[in-house]
Amino acid sequence: MIKIVVAGFKGRMGATATKMVIEHERFELVGVLDPHAQEKNLSEISDYQELNVPVFKEKETLVKSVVADAWIDFTIPKVAYENTYFALENKIAPVVGTTGFTEEQVASLIKLSKAQKTGGLIAPNFAIGAVLMMEFATKAVQYFPDVEIIELHHDNKLDAPSGTAVKTAEMMEEVRAKKAQGNPDEKETIKGARGADYEGMRIHSVRLPGLIAHQQVQFGGTGEGLTIRHDSYDRASFMSGVALGCEKVVELKELVYGLENLL
Ligand code: NAP
Repeated sequence: MIKIVVAGFKGRMGATATKMVIEHERFELVGVLDPHAQEKNLSEISDYQELNVPVFKEKETLVKSVVADAWIDFTIPKVAYENTYFALENKIAPVVGTTGFTEEQVASLIKLSKAQKTGGLIAPNFAIGAVLMMEFATKAVQYFPDVEIIELHHDNKLDAPSGTAVKTAEMMEEVRAKKAQGNPDEKETIKGARGADYEGMRIHSVRLPGLIAHQQVQFGGTGEGLTIRHDSYDRASFMSGVALGCEKVVELKELVYGLENLL
């Protein structure tokens, strides 16, 4: 059995991950973390009356009280780096879905994981279809360097652009012929109209109620266009990736960035 803790267990993704861990035959949920939780045990929540899983408000108390192999993190961008660092320091393999990490933060966590000989995964998107969307986009950009990313999420999302959009742009940038798109003389009459600029590629962030997580990578060529689109209609779409991550990280000796590294 892989012993797992879930940080952010009351959030939209954390609650879905908690349910997945409870239902998974090879996982044991040993603790959950939320700084504002009122409960002391998951059994106080009506869906989980049969369980005996301690609820922690502080990560320091958690590591003193339970032994865990993996740390699922679906919290907020502001605390995810600190949480991941802490998990690695305590030799608990992090499986992080929280987005908003900078390149420098990812690099420093990989360095720490190697020093600690502890596996880990940071995945901006755990949906298999999204991983394929990023790979197909990386293939297409070699033939169509003119590309714009349009990512669409629910209106409670804290970071923009999404981690998936940034990761897609990073992957495409490695193989794309350098190019600044659009007319060199173009002027925005309203600031932001052309979206964010990542190495000459534009990223547009849409936030609307009703959406979950969606992304369109749109390419243009002479007389033709190609659109690659992925839609997560339900947060359950991310859970097979999270489960795979938990099973794999405990065998790794360093942290990897992107689910594609484990497929
Ligand atoms: P959410 O509903 O706002 O949940 C975040 C939760 O984290 C809240 O319950 C919050 O508790 C809790 N939290 C805040 N500080 C914490 C701390 N120090 N320790 C533990 N928990 C803490 O957000 P969400 O929609 O679930 O999304 C969470 C993250 O996952 C976001 O970064 C989002 O972009 C990302 N995401 C990733 C994927 C993927 O596939 N990788 C997919 C979807 C979403 P309080 O409300 O009590 O402060």
